[in-house]
Amino acid sequence: MKREAFTRLIDTVFAAKSGEEMSCSDYFNELPRYAELEANGVDAAALMPEVRHHMHQCPECEEVYLGLLGLLRAEKK
Ligand SMILES: [Zn+2]
Repeated sequence: MKREAFTRLIDTVFAAKSGEEMSCSDYFNELPRYAELEANGVDAAALMPEVRHHMHQCPECEEVYLGLLGLLRAEKK
């Protein structure tokens, strides 16, 4: 019983981890869509939480995102 609960806990931790972790190249695949949503006033972080998560882990990627968002917003004016 105890052991089962422990095994389940391990499974949950690993599932959450693999669901959340994203490499920089995965991030760059998703980034244009994310920035486009955000530039249109959509809550992109709610729709694509893994992209948001990567940004918090990786300042370089966040910087690229902010640059891209600035460009998209400038285009819409
Ligand atoms: Zn990154």
